[in-house]
Amino acid sequence: MKKALLVIDYTVDFVGENGALTCGEPGQLIEAYIVSLTNEFLANDDVVIFPVDLHDINDSFHPETKLFPSHNIRNTPGRALYGELKNVYDEHMDAIIWLDKTRYSSFAGTNLHQLMRERHVEEVHLVGVCTDICILHTAVDAYNLGFSIVIHEKGVASFNSIGNEWALGHFTNALGATVIK
Ligand code: ZN
Repeated sequence: MKKALLVIDYTVDFVGENGALTCGEPGQLIEAYIVSLTNEFLANDDVVIFPVDLHDINDSFHPETKLFPSHNIRNTPGRALYGELKNVYDEHMDAIIWLDKTRYSSFAGTNLHQLMRERHVEEVHLVGVCTDICILHTAVDAYNLGFSIVIHEKGVASFNSIGNEWALGHFTNALGATVIK
């Protein structure tokens, strides 16, 4: 079965010590797992996509403006990939698909579905942050579109530990996903 890895929102603002909307330590602890899984997918010539949140400063029309401090603003250091993953991207830029997204789901307002169909992807693997927001909304859309879903528990994190636990249960129980421990 053709598979794709989605590394979602693993940026300085979402993961770094002083990130604008950081998951903090739980987000930092999954770095090595994400890097190693990304390298594994690249080595196997599987599809690798980095969906990355994109905002413009003071965008009064964006629903998140009322909900969160501003984050992942276009052309700012906070929107850079966090840690070693940045080096992986710089080395494999030709093989990794960078996907700007502006909503929680990687499918919302992007051409992700087309990218997957063109490449005959049937199974989507999800890692990154936050488990109960962007990973969850992406998983729900993947479910509605009929993809098989694999969540890597060691590769997802949230600032909200209760939300993290709840989402992991939801992936299995409501979306029929495989959660790899
Ligand atoms: Zn956002």
